[in-house]
Amino acid sequence: MILIVDDNQSNIFSLKKLLQSQNFPVDTANSGEQALSKALRNNYALIILDVQMPDMDGFEVAETLADYSKTKDIPIIFLSAVNTEKRFITKGYASGGIDYVTKPIDPDILLLKVETYYNIQEQNRKLKKSQQNLELEVKGRRETQVVMKSQLDHFQQMLEALPQIAFTLNQVGEIEFVNGRWFQYSKSEKHFPDIHPDDSVLVEEYRKQKDNLEIIALEVRIKNVETGEFRYHLLRMSPILVNKKIKNWVGTFTDINDQKRVEQEKDEFLSIASHELKTPLTSIKAYVQLLERKLKLDKSSPEAGYVAKVQHQIDKLNNLITDLLDISKIEHGKLKMNLQTNNLEEVIQNALETILHTHDENSIKIERHGQKPDFLMQFDSIRVEQVLINFLTNAIKYSPENNKVIVTTSVDEQDVKISVTDFGIGIPEYKQASVFDKFYRVEESSLQFQGMGIGLYICAEIIVQHGGSIGLSSVINEGSTFYFTLPRV
Ligand code: ADP
Repeated sequence: MILIVDDNQSNIFSLKKLLQSQNFPVDTANSGEQALSKALRNNYALIILDVQMPDMDGFEVAETLADYSKTKDIPIIFLSAVNTEKRFITKGYASGGIDYVTKPIDPDILLLKVETYYNIQEQNRKLKKSQQNLELEVKGRRETQVVMKSQLDHFQQMLEALPQIAFTLNQVGEIEFVNGRWFQYSKSEKHFPDIHPDDSVLVEEYRKQKDNLEIIALEVRIKNVETGEFRYHLLRMSPILVNKKIKNWVGTFTDINDQKRVEQEKDEFLSIASHELKTPLTSIKAYVQLLERKLKLDKSSPEAGYVAKVQHQIDKLNNLITDLLDISKIEHGKLKMNLQTNNLEEVIQNALETILHTHDENSIKIERHGQKPDFLMQFDSIRVEQVLINFLTNAIKYSPENNKVIVTTSVDEQDVKISVTDFGIGIPEYKQASVFDKFYRVEESSLQFQGMGIGLYICAEIIVQHGGSIGLSSVINEGSTFYFTLPRV
């Protein structure tokens, strides 16, 4: 808006008409005082100021406007009819005017000037606005930088406080940050700790897994810088994803050496104990058989019943010890499969007969469903039968209220699938994945049913060694289906 200041109403009127004819928004003031108060309240792009006015003349108004930050940059055109001498014109410029027009005015020239100054002022205003916006943005960015820096500091302090070795990597796998504990296992923040040569396969594994955008967890031995000792650590690395792309990795090494040692000692103890138990048990078994033959007991006599019970308990003990020995074989990579050409259906029938013999036939009911795999395949018949017997024994053991078990087989070009379904106690979903772990037993049922939690662990190893898969589905209080597959070729 343009402010016209003049004490003469007719001057104001004609100037206002002239400017409005060119669509300029116009405001007016008829004294210096009124002009000042209006200029402080409103935003003007230009002021056209008459020099001769009673009380406060145009020069004074201009000087006062120059004192206020709000008004100091408004361009002023002086209009004067009387003070046309050079000194007045000079004074006009000195007091802050950008032009000095003497009357009578040429309307075309005045309009051209007004238009130019008005435009310049408009441009200035826009420039100022964008400068202010820029300043605001710079300020905002600086503040965000400060916040980010403090968040980063906080994050690094948290990593420092961890009892583990902690580090971060950038997206290409270069080390970005390490905490203090890192230096117990590495001489510099640029180098990864030394990994035991026997664990270097795991490093390869880690390189492969790195592109999968998933959490990596590996057990590796790393070398303590001071003692030179290799200690077992759990290396865990989580990718931080932004828009499904890796931004960086957060990793930790947790010292699990003591747990590992205890575990190894336990495995060794089990291996030695089961070996030591096996020898006397074998002779007990032989002597009981000898005794049974020598005594020639009447099958219906109580004594014959006692001997049968002793033999049954010896068999149970023998199975337990065999399982423990299998575990130690798995630990040492010595559980080898003896692959031969066998008929799978015959193996299934053998397993079913064994189960029916060792259980009260009237108390269980086994149904057989699906296409029978009555053909030859390559597998270890003793070990596959062991898996089946384990599934069937569990199905009966963990179904105290229901005696029905279904064995289903299905055959396709690649695999044969064998499932054992029971209608027993079931397994809670979040515990299902663990039942194949060594010594794992579902807590809820562990007191009610006897067992050591190793049968399924051995089964999983046997099936994996055959190149098959093993798994289950289960609903608590409704029952479970355990299955395994064997490849046909
Ligand atoms: P064990 O039966 O000697 O404890 P397993 O390794 O055979 O050991 O089984 C591990 C655990 O899985 C068992 O302790 C039991 O909690 C659970 N489990 C296995 N089979 C079944 C089943 N058919 N129904 C319910 N729970 C089962």
